[in-house]
Amino acid sequence: MKNEPKIDPKEVLAGIVEWVTIESPSHDAKAVNVVVDKVEGQFRDLGLKLERIPGRDGFGDILECKTPWGEGKGILVLAHLDTVHPIGMIEKDLKIRQEGDSVFGPGIYDMKAGGYIAYYALRHLIRQGKKPKLPVTFLFIPEEEVGSPTSRSRIEAAAKGHKYCLVMEPGRDGDKVVTSRKGVGRFVMTVKGRASHAGVRHEDGRSAILEMARQIVRIEGRTDYNRGITVNVGLINGGTGVNVISAECTAEIDLRVPNQQLAEEMTHWFLNLEPIGPDVEVKVEGGMNRPPYQKDAGIAQLFDKAQAIYREIGKDLKDVPLTGGGSDGNFTAALGIPTLDGLGADGKGAHAAYEQIYYSSLVPRTYLCARLLETLD
Ligand SMILES: [Zn+2]
Repeated sequence: MKNEPKIDPKEVLAGIVEWVTIESPSHDAKAVNVVVDKVEGQFRDLGLKLERIPGRDGFGDILECKTPWGEGKGILVLAHLDTVHPIGMIEKDLKIRQEGDSVFGPGIYDMKAGGYIAYYALRHLIRQGKKPKLPVTFLFIPEEEVGSPTSRSRIEAAAKGHKYCLVMEPGRDGDKVVTSRKGVGRFVMTVKGRASHAGVRHEDGRSAILEMARQIVRIEGRTDYNRGITVNVGLINGGTGVNVISAECTAEIDLRVPNQQLAEEMTHWFLNLEPIGPDVEVKVEGGMNRPPYQKDAGIAQLFDKAQAIYREIGKDLKDVPLTGGGSDGNFTAALGIPTLDGLGADGKGAHAAYEQIYYSSLVPRTYLCARLLETLD
């Protein structure tokens, strides 16, 4: 068939670059909404039903696009339109450019390429006169990079009405997708001691910093690579002067766990931490931000289907071993919705100044997404 539309990598890349050109850091609602406008227009042109939920708490809008065809529970496609890069990166370290197979740009890998691939995949089916068997909902998230605080409930509500979830987060080097992710916890520890002059009344002081130092050693000691637990005290703040015994110190802690049981065990441990030294107070707040995403039978079946599709183009699809990076896929998988993640372009350097996608991955990844949309039933 001569006139059969083809997945054209140049066309895919040109579309990705249009999205990447609109810089969209999570905390800049205005900037994020410019790319939301762009995506909204493109899905409207495909004939989808749109709903735009106004942003709150300083974040951009959530965009939901539904196919008007199909009945019953369908496919939820998740992508985020925010990036971690501040405005201006595009003129500095992350100029949009192609060097060999690598194409650079802010948020190109994480994950504007993935979002655009999903759009192009649907458009490709429509151009061929085909339609997905199931209804498809595309949900574009404005603040995934800060943990999806304003869109989590919307993602979970949407997931419950769908049979499958496809997450267009970055693919992994070498034809790999994601079928499990660790759960992510966030905690803030506050220590209150007693201020005093470090020279005149040293003995009256109770150093919050000293107590925190002890706590940190204990907390970091919970990292256990064998059980897949990692703990990181990533931020610390305390003291008012070099000659003052510190009255207050706070620390922010990141926790990653592979399963729900450890999530509960570690949360309980954190929230019940007691002071180590005398005359100080210790308070811990926080909890699990993203539940663990574990590969169950439904996910394994969905992955099998994706592997079969990849074989149609002579390629072998693999899944990566449990990754520590969370995504919105954690929310949908934890609800028992078979979730396949990491369906975006291959590349490397997420969140880094060398962020890039591999041009050669655009056709296979678009093919995979298009055929998943076409054949899942
Ligand atoms: Zn991402």
